[in-house]
Amino acid sequence: MKAEKLFALASRYMPGGVSSPVRAYKPYPFFVEHAKGSKIYDVDGREYIDYCLAYGPLVLGHGNEEVKTAVREQLEKGWLYGTPHEKEIELAKKIIAHYPSVEMVRFVNTGSEATMAGIRLARGFKERDKIVKIEGGFHGAHDSVLVKAGSGATTFGIPDSKGIPKDSVKNTLQVPFNDAAALSTMLEKNSGEVAAVIIEPVMGNVGPIPPQDNYLSDVREITKENDVLLILDEVITGFRLALGGAQEFYGIDADLTILGKIVGGGFPIGVFGGRRELMELIAPSGAVYHAGTFSGNPVSITAGLKTIEIIARERVPQRINKLGERMRAALSEIVRDSGVESYVSGVGSMFKVFFSPSGKEVKNYADALRCDKNKYMVLFHKMLDSGVFLPPSQFETNFISSAHTEEDIERTIEEYKENIDNSHS
Ligand SMILES: *Cc1c(COP(=O)(O)O)cnc(C)c1O
Repeated sequence: MKAEKLFALASRYMPGGVSSPVRAYKPYPFFVEHAKGSKIYDVDGREYIDYCLAYGPLVLGHGNEEVKTAVREQLEKGWLYGTPHEKEIELAKKIIAHYPSVEMVRFVNTGSEATMAGIRLARGFKERDKIVKIEGGFHGAHDSVLVKAGSGATTFGIPDSKGIPKDSVKNTLQVPFNDAAALSTMLEKNSGEVAAVIIEPVMGNVGPIPPQDNYLSDVREITKENDVLLILDEVITGFRLALGGAQEFYGIDADLTILGKIVGGGFPIGVFGGRRELMELIAPSGAVYHAGTFSGNPVSITAGLKTIEIIARERVPQRINKLGERMRAALSEIVRDSGVESYVSGVGSMFKVFFSPSGKEVKNYADALRCDKNKYMVLFHKMLDSGVFLPPSQFETNFISSAHTEEDIERTIEEYKENIDNSHS
């Protein structure tokens, strides 16, 4: 296997052999040769149907031709200006059109950067230091949110990273997902000290965990009652659940919205936005500082613009959400028939088989942590050997893209059936 040799080499020059933790799994990850549509191909000549999809951005699948053409045309005109260009206005207008709670945006380079600056803005606006996050919520890899953090941090057992000053995490309070009463109590206990609640509307980094009925509207109410800002981290849900993200899908709004992943069409991006009164606090119009060399770069902006155009024209959310429903229904049936203790979770184009004790519903971080990670990795490897690439962690979401065909979905269901049955026997 070429991959084995490459991984040994990569491990010599990069910690764990990878550029981001969750990409590493035992004995070694496959190395990509190329990717197209719903498929990813490795250096050892194998083809996989891809449900990892770079952890969310690739809602049109790999190598979309229209996006490629638009980016090529942009490259002819240069790829970084360090000065304003018209496409920034176009993308800002598109985001604002789909997210009514957003009146102004700032473009940044990653979701992590967007939550970091968004939290700073909330603190600056309220002149308070504390924030509340959800246990297992993931908002990127910076100091104030790496506490009980999901994604690779949970996969590798380091949800509270070393190297973070106690003084910075003492301001990060935590409550469980799907528990409005806990949030209410936390805000009352810390009355006048909390700037914002930051939350993923669908938890995406401990596996997909949807909000229960009325939870999000309760969160909205509770934050208003307690005079605290609500930051909705729609880095995964934005332009995926619906064009207007979870806000459109669940009929809620936010004080600050965080976007990323899809909005850059597969190129690095992050966005934070909200109403004018808040956003005008950002430098140079206000006193909350944020800056970035690569921010608003024309390549990411171009790819994002084209991607959103295609999502709207081809009604991508409706299509992929339907495929997601088909997948979850079939998986639930497979799981039931096999008698394997597991629970099928998800919403829209996101899905996951949780190896949950007694098949109990997974409603929050604590429930997710009770799932059998080892059993999941057995399934992961069997699926990989069958030509289906799932994310290599019990705690990462499977995504469907518009490049996935019904045939891909049916084949995947067959492979699940075969492999879940086998793992049982
Ligand atoms: C991926 C993710 C981030 C971080 O985005 P990066 O671009 O990886 O920095 C933040 N929030 C959520 C909900 C995410 O899924």
